[in-house]
Amino acid sequence: MAKFEGYKDIYVFVEQKNGVIAEVGYELISEARKLVASIPEMGFKVVGVLLGHQIADKANEVIAHGADKVIVVDDVLLKDYSTQFYADALTQVIENYKPDSFLTGATVLGRDLAPRVAARINAGLTADATKIAIDLDKAKEGEALLLVTRPTFGGNLFGTIVCPDTRPQMATIRPKVFDMAPVDETRTGEVETFSPNWKTTEPEVTIDKVVEKIVEGVDITKANILVGAGRGAEGCLDVVKACAEELDGVMCATRAVVEDGYADKNIQVGQTGKTVRPALYIACGISGAVQHVAGMEKSDMIIAINRDPEAEIFKISNMGFVGDVNEVLPLLVEEIKKAKA
Ligand code: FAD
Repeated sequence: MAKFEGYKDIYVFVEQKNGVIAEVGYELISEARKLVASIPEMGFKVVGVLLGHQIADKANEVIAHGADKVIVVDDVLLKDYSTQFYADALTQVIENYKPDSFLTGATVLGRDLAPRVAARINAGLTADATKIAIDLDKAKEGEALLLVTRPTFGGNLFGTIVCPDTRPQMATIRPKVFDMAPVDETRTGEVETFSPNWKTTEPEVTIDKVVEKIVEGVDITKANILVGAGRGAEGCLDVVKACAEELDGVMCATRAVVEDGYADKNIQVGQTGKTVRPALYIACGISGAVQHVAGMEKSDMIIAINRDPEAEIFKISNMGFVGDVNEVLPLLVEEIKKAKA
């Protein structure tokens, strides 16, 4: 008998709020597609799990984003997120369908839900991952061992974690680390509804009111062009901002600049800030510390300005200017203005 009889496929938790699906679910489905394609001998599918109320019509959207099958759990108790009911329902889905791997976005919701479910079903979970792969040698022996990589020791090292003894292999994965494949409206797939068998419908915690968070300023994760300020650009932040404006982009910053009090935490890029992947990232006076790079290295094009030719940032840049940012950046802004005129 196979080691994990009956466990198959890669499942992705498709997080939604008020019927709007969080992009991370689609990023994970896209990556799961690549994983199953890397092990054709296993015949795995990508399955999306959609929990909520009156969300069944979203299943086709999940298929268009790459799922072969969607399991819909539509129940009034799942209208708003509740740790109790979501964990109850998801535990039952997993026990019923036996996924080989189960991926969840490392969002506020995912970080709450996934560990609770893992504890209930005694599964191994790797939290806050930035990379996933499958051990291709093990796949030849009939086992789809998931290799999950995450920063460790304060972000100075990356560790790859395996959970070889239990199923499903669970992981929470940061938003924006994977590409979202283009939508294919012609894709077809299976939709199955699942009704949880509630032990109780009495909530342990009741929600009186949901207050929407007011996001101050711009959301750097949505910007197509970012101009990043590092400590080396603290003397010319007005020019950094002007450069961003000229390019219809947004300014972001390193943790050093945030800690020095020159920028708000909500525009910090990196391991303890936000992960971004714009079309263009201009790094101004940024050293290229691993914790910063972790949040922006997936940008399509990186241009760095740094006076130190040995700066780490140049190693991940497509183009670099060695020079004083106070001199180079105003010239760049002038050139952009000329080009736009
Ligand atoms: P510095 O390291 O001081 O580098 C300044 C750079 O500017 C240098 O390369 C210098 O050559 C150049 N420079 C100086 N003057 C000029 C000039 N006039 N013209 C041109 N170039 C100039 N950092 C983050 O950014 N995001 C995070 O999320 C994050 N999380 C962290 C989590 C942990 C657990 C730890 C331990 C650290 C974290 N850090 C994070 C901090 C990170 O290690 C670095 O300290 C930080 O990124 C450095 O910022 P910086 O490049 O702006 O500053």
